[in-house]
Amino acid sequence: MNGKPGSSHNSLWSRVAGASDHPFLKLPLQYRFDFTIPFSMNPSQSATSLATSISNSLHLESKLPAVGTTIFTVMSNLAAERKAVNLGQGFPDFGCDPVLIDMVNVAMKDGLNQYPPMAGVAPLRTAISAKIDSLYGHRYHTDSEITVTAGATQAIFTTIQCCVHAGDEVLIIEPAFDCYVPAVRLAGGMPVFIQMDIGASGYSVPWNKVAAAVTPKTRLIIINTPHNPSGSTLQEPDMLALADIVRGTDILILADEVYEHMVYDGTLHESVCRYPELAIRSFLVSSFGKTYHVTGWKVGFVAAPATLTTEFRKVHQFNVFTVNTPMQHGIAAYMANPAPYRELSAFYERKRNLFRAGLANTRLRLLPSQGTYFQCVDYSAISDLPEAEFAKWLTTEIGVAAIPVSAFYDQPRESGIVRFCFAKKDETLELALSRLKRI
Ligand code: GLN
Repeated sequence: MNGKPGSSHNSLWSRVAGASDHPFLKLPLQYRFDFTIPFSMNPSQSATSLATSISNSLHLESKLPAVGTTIFTVMSNLAAERKAVNLGQGFPDFGCDPVLIDMVNVAMKDGLNQYPPMAGVAPLRTAISAKIDSLYGHRYHTDSEITVTAGATQAIFTTIQCCVHAGDEVLIIEPAFDCYVPAVRLAGGMPVFIQMDIGASGYSVPWNKVAAAVTPKTRLIIINTPHNPSGSTLQEPDMLALADIVRGTDILILADEVYEHMVYDGTLHESVCRYPELAIRSFLVSSFGKTYHVTGWKVGFVAAPATLTTEFRKVHQFNVFTVNTPMQHGIAAYMANPAPYRELSAFYERKRNLFRAGLANTRLRLLPSQGTYFQCVDYSAISDLPEAEFAKWLTTEIGVAAIPVSAFYDQPRESGIVRFCFAKKDETLELALSRLKRI
């Protein structure tokens, strides 16, 4: 992930037997790319300047005028430029289980490379259904209630497009992951924001404020547990409060549960599907990227009652149509062994404890991390800088990249808190801690 895509691509050729004889590589460089110029041009004018002058004369009204480059990309780029330890963007700096790679390779070599069924390959949908049942006691029908997606982000986008109509209100609990609001706006919906409380025991959802935000136009409530960026989790009283709010309404729920296998201190993941009253109105979204240390594979799923799934698939089939076949077969085979996801909480709890023990020797104040691979810290005793400035300073001057939590709010809110990702090798965490002790 930290490597340079260009160089790793080139080295792939040298690592595959016989690949250097490939006819493509024998072509002189300029012929390896097909440069088609769409219409006749003045030979003195370069293709780039022609394209620029044409696009300057066009007017495209942005559908997302407030959106720039995501904070994750910004901080990862800054970390790479300043050679900082990247605890910003959430991804592991270690590899996945080689057995999983082998299983995907076997699927490819067995010729499983054509379009899969639109909803996803049957063995994967079956494995997902069985896993949810064994962990949370809710049986989704393999054929009519589970759809494989190109990561959780596409599942979230498609869910929002299939159920939010122009003018519908969508309740967003902030801080909120950055893909929710743009998807609501593209659907013509109106995001309605409720801020989490930040107290001595960390972040919590003020359900009375969520209830107060409900109107006849409320179509969807988005929840996220374990929660990015705060590391908080919803517990049974939260789910019951949510059930009270939606009972007797047509409000749907989108539950982003991508960190479902990272919950600590003996707690349970309170999946929305554990609560029949909630399950009947919920799109449960999760993915394999976080669970199997393969965030770049972009394979996720949505589980939802058949009526909701029917609407989801109407959009899905014209959004991505299908998700790549060999990955699906490889993951399905790998899921036969439950140990990797059952043991993930213990794996990350050890890293969390190691990281927290080190942070306790710094001037940063620890907030609880009950789930996810994120740890938030309060730096207000150290600096008055706004969070984005502090995160940049930490990256450039101290050599550790973090994410400002203010980036997860529609109207940036300054709480003096930044987020670290501890999905890193122990030595990466130790290096970051040795630097953070200098603050
Ligand atoms: N989910 C990851 C995080 O919160 C990043 C995803 C992304 O880069 N868009 O850090």
